[in-house]
Amino acid sequence: MQAMLSTVAAMPFLNPWTLSTSWWWGGFFLTRAAIAMYDFLVIGIVELVKQPKLPTRNTGVPVRYVGLDAASVAYLVINSVQEWLFVQNLCHFMWNSDTVPKAVADVGPLNTVAALYVMFVVLDLFYAPAHRFLHWRPVYPYIHKHHHRQIFPVRGYLDAGNEHPIEHLIGTSCTWIAVYTAVRTTGAHAATIFLFFNVHAALAMLNHSPFDVDVTLLGFNYSVKAHETHHRKFTTNYAQYWMGIDHAMGTFRPYDASTSASSSEGYNGEGSAEGSADAGSAGKPKTRAQPKRGAKTKGL
Ligand SMILES: [Zn+2]
Ligand SMILES: [Zn+2]
Repeated sequence: MQAMLSTVAAMPFLNPWTLSTSWWWGGFFLTRAAIAMYDFLVIGIVELVKQPKLPTRNTGVPVRYVGLDAASVAYLVINSVQEWLFVQNLCHFMWNSDTVPKAVADVGPLNTVAALYVMFVVLDLFYAPAHRFLHWRPVYPYIHKHHHRQIFPVRGYLDAGNEHPIEHLIGTSCTWIAVYTAVRTTGAHAATIFLFFNVHAALAMLNHSPFDVDVTLLGFNYSVKAHETHHRKFTTNYAQYWMGIDHAMGTFRPYDASTSASSSEGYNGEGSAEGSADAGSAGKPKTRAQPKRGAKTKGL
C-alpha cells in the first residue's frame, strides 16, 4: 500500500487533484455514467431527427458484425481509466493555467470561434499521419488491427473506444496537442475547450454509428461515410474532420455504397482483396444482423 501511494505521489498525472481513493473512484464511475449517457443522447438525437442510415445498412442484407471479445472488454476498461486520467489532467490544466481565460467577460471571437477552428485543424494534422503510421505493415498487426475488427461500425462509443490502449493514448495525445496549440496561439477560453472536447467525443461516437451524418463547413468535411470507407478500405481516409489532409496524402477515397469490405488495398497499400477483408477480423467474416439500440451495451 505504501509503495502504491509513493508511486502515485511520484506520478502526479495519476491524481492531479490529490483526490482520496474513494473520490478518485467515485469520479471514475461518474465519468463512465456521463459518457454512457452522452453516447445514448447523441445517438438518440440522431435517431429522433430521423437521420437516414448509411447506404450499406439499407440494402436489406445484414452487413458483417463482430461482437466484443475478451480483449475488447479489457481494452475498453483500460481506455476508460485513460479517459478519466485525461479528463482530470485537462481540467487541472484549465483551472490552474493563467493563459486559459475562464470569466464570461473574457469571451471573444479569437478565443472561441478561431480557437475551435485551430483545435480541429491541429487535431487532424497530428491524428491523420499518426493513424497512417498505425497502418504501416510492421506496426499494424500489433496495435491498430484490433480497431478494424469491425468493418461496419455500429455501436457508437463501444466501437470508437474499442482500440488498443497505445492507440488510445496516441488519440488523446493528439487531442491534448490540439488544445495546447489553441491555448498558445489564440488564448482559447475554458468554455471553448469544454465545447471542443464534447463535440469531438460526440463526433467520434457518431463516426462509429450506422447513421449517415455528413457536414461540410469552412474547409472541414465530417462524414460518417468517410470513416466507414476507412474501416472497409483500410488505407484510405485517415483524417476525421479535415479531409484535405487525405487529399494531400493521396489517400482520400469517395464513398462506395456496395457492401463489400474488400478492396485492392490491404494495410499499407498492399495485400489481396481477401487479405483486406480478413486483416481486421478475428476469424471468418460474419454477416449476422447488427444489434438494435437496446442491445448496444451487451457484453459490457
Ligand atoms: Zn474507427
Ligand atoms: Zn485505421
